[in-house]
Formats: sequence, structure tokens, C-alpha cells
Amino acid sequence: MDNPVSKIQTYMYMCVVWIPEPQPEPMIPDILNRTIGPIIDHLAEYNYISGCDKCGNSSEVLNCCEIDGGYHFQCSKCANALPNYSQAVSINTKPAKSNFIAGLVGAFFGSLIGCAAWILIYKLGYIAGIAGAITAICSMKGYELLGGRLDKKGVVGSVIIMLIMIFVANKAAWTWDAYDSLKDYGWSFAELFQELNYILEESDLMGRYIADLAIGYVLTAIASFRTIIAAFHAS
Ligand SMILES: [Zn+2]
Repeated sequence: MDNPVSKIQTYMYMCVVWIPEPQPEPMIPDILNRTIGPIIDHLAEYNYISGCDKCGNSSEVLNCCEIDGGYHFQCSKCANALPNYSQAVSINTKPAKSNFIAGLVGAFFGSLIGCAAWILIYKLGYIAGIAGAITAICSMKGYELLGGRLDKKGVVGSVIIMLIMIFVANKAAWTWDAYDSLKDYGWSFAELFQELNYILEESDLMGRYIADLAIGYVLTAIASFRTIIAAFHAS
């Protein structure tokens, strides 16, 4: 049951997937969804959109029609033109939902990689915001890995986690700087982390601090934009 697809063939507007007839019959929708879902997700990630498999029309909700023993998705114009058009048994084409809690754990651990990169790049003296992109990618990959798939709620959860983690990473990187110069005066890292805003204002560094954060968020948005759109299209 690991790989139920026996054959795939691509055409102008469609790709046909052969699956050995699942038994028993009530299992058909479930197995179809589990098999087709990931393929649709994969295609959506590369900006493919769903449309009529005969004429390519993508402007309306498609009908699932039974033609010669196979299932086809067609627009109403093409479907009505079929000699013996019959709406096929209702197949739920929505793939299974993700596991939200497990996904959030994955997104959190993924974003930790981005945070480590953020602090490292900052310590090396480069623009740490580059790591915003890494955080976005790792966070969503983490969600997908542990949550099963990246659906709408997965995207929302991952985005919230990456926004918080980027903020924490930037603050930690700047606190580290303050710690290097103030530790000899008896300050601990935790104290400096709490008092960072005050220190930044006193030393006129608030502008640069905010700029670092803003660059990070912009690059995060650029890096995750396509994946977010794809996830919303697919679910
Ligand atoms: Zn059509």
C-alpha cells in the first residue's frame, strides 16, 4: 500500500494516474485521496492550477465524471457534451488534514535552525535578515515533516512561529553583543535580554536594531510567499 500508483501518463491538460482498484469498495475515496492529494500538492507548489482535463478551463468548479471506467475532472461545458454524462460517485478530493500540534512542534524545531543561522550570520558581521528566509523554509518544512502536510492552518501556525522566533533570534543576537561589552560590569545575559530596549535607546542603536528585524521579515515574506499561496490553493 506504500505506492499504489501503477502508471502515470501526461497529456496537454491532464495527467492520468492508474491505481489498482482498491478493495473493499468503501476504501476507494480514502485511497484515492491519499494517493492523489500529495500529487496535487506537489503540482500546486510548482504553480499548476486545476482545470478541465479536456479544454483546460480553470474558471469554474470542476465536475467529476465517469468516462469509460475512469474518473475525469471536466468543466460543465465539456461534461454536458459527453454522450452519457453522469456525475460520478461523489469523491472528496480534499486531501487528509494535517496534525496541527505535531506540525507546530516541527515548525518550532525547524525555526530553531533559522534562529541559529540568524545569530551566526549576525556574529559574522553580515546582514542577519538573510536567515529570515532560512527560518521561513525550515519552519514550514518542519510543519510538513511532523504534521503530515502543509495545509492552511499549518501555514498560519508556521508563520506565527517564524515571526516570533525571528524576533527572539534578533533580540538574542543583539543581547549577545551587549553581553560581550557589559559582562565585565556584572550584567548577566538574562538581565541584558530584558533590558535590551533601554540599552538600545540609550546608545542610539534602536534604528539599526529595528532595521535588522525589518529586513528579516521582508526576506521571510519573500521566501515563504509561494509556498503559502500554494498551500491555500491546495486546501
Ligand atoms: Zn472543458
